[in-house]
Amino acid sequence: MSGHAPLRAGVCGWPVAHSRSPLIHGYWLKSLGVDGVYERFPTPPGTFSAFAASIGVDRLVGANVTLPHKEAAFAACGELTAAARGAGAVNTLWREGGALCGDNTDVAGFLANLDAEAPEWRRQGGEAIVLGAGGAARAVVYALLSQGCGRVTIVNRTFARAEALAASFGAAAEAVAWEALPGRLAGAGLLINATSLGMSGQAAVEIDLKPMKGAAVVADIVYVPLQTPLIAAARRRDLRAVGGLGMLLHQAAPAFARWFGTRPTVTPQLRALVEADIAAGGKETA
Ligand code: NAP
Repeated sequence: MSGHAPLRAGVCGWPVAHSRSPLIHGYWLKSLGVDGVYERFPTPPGTFSAFAASIGVDRLVGANVTLPHKEAAFAACGELTAAARGAGAVNTLWREGGALCGDNTDVAGFLANLDAEAPEWRRQGGEAIVLGAGGAARAVVYALLSQGCGRVTIVNRTFARAEALAASFGAAAEAVAWEALPGRLAGAGLLINATSLGMSGQAAVEIDLKPMKGAAVVADIVYVPLQTPLIAAARRRDLRAVGGLGMLLHQAAPAFARWFGTRPTVTPQLRALVEADIAAGGKETA
């Protein structure tokens, strides 16, 4: 191994061909002049442990983890950040003193995007409503509660999953049936779509936003298309609307900083680069 070889990081998943992480990290490596590379690591089911063992070897300083390995990564780590524990999944790996360490940067990415695009969300009273009870919804609920959000309401097609997710966060989170959602909108300061509804090729989130307070913030974590039907409806209703692309960009920054020792920023050029890639087609995947 040469002492001058570049540091390496990458994204592990299956499939991983459509990941936009190489575009994002590649932009920062180049623009910040870091001597590093960011690769794709196709990792079929059953081979994650072998991949995890390679972290820390041959200048591989760490990796992002995407479907279907986020839970396996969580289980494989000897050390977890509070965000990874709260989200129950790991999307960023590195090694420290021999131990495999894991973070979930979707938590910080979600919050950084809201702070950048709708900082007033922190002054909203009332409840925050989260649509969804999958992996992303768990990260969003944890993120909100970690910032002192007093009440989070979880609404999901499969009510039992909303109940299980709410129960895992104790009294601060409540599960509500999808049919009861219209009656809760007037009391909400924040509404977040963390389902896959609204993604290209999927049905839209069908909600009449009319009852929402004028100062309320509506966020969608879906970013393909860039303007989802929910974001379009929020804009028509003159509500502050926050799309999901910023979360994707901001979740990458803490991982890059950890591996390469330089804190990158989410610039308009980076956003334009990824927007152009989305416009050129392709799926929604970190
Ligand atoms: P997941 O674990 O598969 O969960 C999917 C969620 O969507 C579940 O709550 C599911 O409800 C709901 N859902 C799916 N189809 C539905 C339908 N037809 N009607 C109503 N609800 C439906 O997925 P995930 O990992 O949480 O990801 C969710 C979305 O977030 C994806 O679009 C993903 O790309 C996006 N995401 C974005 C970022 C970002 O950086 N912006 C980060 C992470 C994820 P049931 O429980 O009833 O099945």
